[in-house]
Amino acid sequence: MEDIKKRYDELIKLINKYNYYYYTLDKPLVDDATYDELMNELVTIEKSYPEIIRDDSPAKKVGAVIQTSFEQVHHDPPMLSLANAMDEGDIDDFYERCCKLLGTSTIEYCAELKYDGLAVELVYRNGIYVQGSTRGDGEVGEDVTENIATIKRVPAKLRGDAPDFLSVRGEVIMRHGEFERLNEMRKQNGEQEFANPRNAAAGSLRQLDPNITAQRELDMVLYGIGNMEPASIVTTQNQLYDYFKKVGLPAPHYYEVGLLQDVKQFYKYWMENRYTLDFDIDGVVIKVNNITVRETMGSTSKAPRWAIAWKFPAREAITVLKSVDYQVGRTGLITPVANLEPINIGGVLVKRATLHNFQEVKRLDIKIGDTVKVIRAGDVIPKVVEVIKDKRKDVRAIAVPETCPVCNTTLYHEDIYIRCVNASCPAKEYETLCFFVSKDGMDIEYVGPELLKRLYDQKKIKTIADIYALTREDLLRVERMGEKIANKIIDSINKRREVTLSHFLRALGIRNVGDHLAKVIAKHAGSLQKLMVMSQEELMTIPEVGPGVAQSVYDFFHNEGSLTLIRQMFANGVVVKDEKVQEVSENLFKGKTVVFTGTLQNMTREEAERLIESMGGRASGSVSSKTDFVVAGEEAGSKLDKAKKLHIRILSEDEFMKMIGKHQ
Ligand code: NAD
Repeated sequence: MEDIKKRYDELIKLINKYNYYYYTLDKPLVDDATYDELMNELVTIEKSYPEIIRDDSPAKKVGAVIQTSFEQVHHDPPMLSLANAMDEGDIDDFYERCCKLLGTSTIEYCAELKYDGLAVELVYRNGIYVQGSTRGDGEVGEDVTENIATIKRVPAKLRGDAPDFLSVRGEVIMRHGEFERLNEMRKQNGEQEFANPRNAAAGSLRQLDPNITAQRELDMVLYGIGNMEPASIVTTQNQLYDYFKKVGLPAPHYYEVGLLQDVKQFYKYWMENRYTLDFDIDGVVIKVNNITVRETMGSTSKAPRWAIAWKFPAREAITVLKSVDYQVGRTGLITPVANLEPINIGGVLVKRATLHNFQEVKRLDIKIGDTVKVIRAGDVIPKVVEVIKDKRKDVRAIAVPETCPVCNTTLYHEDIYIRCVNASCPAKEYETLCFFVSKDGMDIEYVGPELLKRLYDQKKIKTIADIYALTREDLLRVERMGEKIANKIIDSINKRREVTLSHFLRALGIRNVGDHLAKVIAKHAGSLQKLMVMSQEELMTIPEVGPGVAQSVYDFFHNEGSLTLIRQMFANGVVVKDEKVQEVSENLFKGKTVVFTGTLQNMTREEAERLIESMGGRASGSVSSKTDFVVAGEEAGSKLDKAKKLHIRILSEDEFMKMIGKHQ
C-alpha cells in the first residue's frame, strides 16, 4: 500500500508538471501517448484504491489551472472535457450506459471529427461578437477576445435574426501548410519550433499581443453551444450545424448521424483516411444526437455522459536503434533501414523503420544505440523522426557504405543519394522482378516475392522478360509446387500478355513514372513505337511531364539494355495495345500563380502544387494581388475570403480538374 501511495503521488506530480508545460507554456515535454498512459495508470489506481484519492487529483479536472497574464472569463455552464474510449469495447460500454440512462436501445448518435486544437468559447450579444476565451480549467478561462477576432472564419456579426445572447464552443486549429510556414520562419529566426499544429495553434492564440496572432493563420470549427437566449429551438446536433451554417458560424464539414454501427464505420473510415486532411484529428467524438435528452443524462465533474472521444491508436512511440541495414532498391538506390528494439505502435509490432537516405541520417544526427521517436502513418512504412538526445549514452556512428552490400560493386554518390550502378546486381534484378509482378506493376496474380526468389535462385528467371517464358514444368520443379497452383500461375501470366500501353509503361518502372504519369504519357503518345522515338522536347509538351520525367523516359528508351529487354518480351509473346490519343489541351497554368485552399478530394495539396509546377506555373501558399487562380477545396477558409476581396479568379476543384484535362 505504501508503494501504491508513493506511485500515486509521483504520478500526480508528474502529470501536473506535464500539464503546466502543455497548457500554460504550449511546449509539451512528452508525447500525448506517454501522457495518456500516465493518466490511465492514475485512474486505475484511483479505481482500485478509492481511499487514497486526493482532492487535487488531475483525473478529476478539466485541463489545468493556467498561470497567465490574461483577464479571466467564467464559463457558464463549465466547458467540460470528454470521456475517452481506447477501443471498440469502450464504445460498446458507452452504448450500454446510454441505453440504461435513456431506457431504450435505439439511440441515434452524431459522430464527428475530434479536432486536435485548443478549446474556446465565443460569445455573441444581439448577433455581435463580444468575447472569446480559452477553456482553461473548464470553469475559468483566459480572455482572448481580440486574438480570436483575428481568425477570418469567426464572423464579427451573425447573419439573420440573431438571439439576444449566444455562447458557442469549438476548437481553434492550425492547418498543416501554415504550421510548416510558421515553423520554417521560426527556424530561420533561431526560435524554437512548435512540436505540432495543436501547440502552434495554442501558442499563437495565447499571445498577449493580438497583432502576433493576426500574423498566424488560425482556423476555427464550432461543435457545441453553451447558452442561448431566448432558448434554442434546435433539438439535434445536426440541426445545430445547420443553424451554425445559417448564421455564418464555422460548422464541421464531416459528420455522420446514425446508429452505433454507423458511427463505428465513421471512426474506421477516418482512422484510415485522416492523413488526407490538412489538419490534425486525434479521434472521433460520438454524441447522443438528441440535444433535449442530454440534460437528463447529466455529466461527471470532468465530462458529459452523452458523449465520448474515441481516440485513434498512437502513431508514434519511443524505442532504441539497435543497428542499421542497407537495402538495395530496384534502381540501385541504397536506403539505410533502422533495426529497432521491437515496439507496439497502434497495435502493430514495429521492428524496422526507414531512415530514407544518408542526408536524413546526418540531419537527424542519429547514431546506433540512440533512443528514437518512430511514427507510423497509415500504410506508410514506419519512419524515425527524432533522436531523444537527453537519453544518449553509448552510441556509435552509422557508417556510410562504400560498396554494395549485395554485389560488392563500389557505390556511386549522386547528390544525396548513393546507388549501386552494377546493372546485374542480384538485389536490383530481384527487386525489379518483384515490382514488375506487384499490384503497382503488371499485377500478376499468384506470383509473389517468395516464388520469384526461388525461380531467381534456380536461375530460371533473371529479367522480367523471362517471366513470360516460364513453363508449367519450370514451375513444377519449384519445391512444394502443386499442379493446380502451377496452372493458375501460368493462367495469370497469360492474362498479362496483352496489355495497354499505360499498363506496360507503369510496370516497366521507369524512374519518376508512376501509375498516373504512365496513363498521361500513354494517352498522348498513343503507341509504344511512337513513344520510343519521341525526343525530350516532344515529351515535355505532354501536360505534367517536366524535364526530369522527359529525361528518364528518353533515357530508358535509348538504353541498349531496355531495348533488348523489350525485344525479348515481344519474342516471349507480350503484346502492347495502342491507346486512344488525347490532344494536348492548351496549358492554362503556364506562367500563372495558383493558390490551393481547403481540402481537395482528388489529390493532396502537395500533388496539386507539383502538378502546377510541372505545367510551368507557380504554386504559392498565400493569396496576393499577384495570384492568378485560387482553387478552393472543401472547407476553404481565409484564403478564399481574401481571393474574393481581391477579385481573383476562384476555381472549384471540379473546374480545376477539367482545366488540367482530368474530367471530361
Ligand atoms: P481530450 O483532448 O481528450 O478531449 C476533449 C476535448 O476535445 C474537448 O475539450 C474539445 O476541446 C475537444 N474536441 C475536439 N473535437 C471535438 C468535437 N467534435 N466535439 C467535442 N469536443 C471536441 O481532452 P482534454 O481534456 O482537452 O485534453 C487531454 C488530452 O490532452 C490528453 O489526453 C492528452 O492527449 C493531451 N495532453 C497532453 C499533454 C502532454 O504533455 N503531451 C499534457 C496534457 C494534456
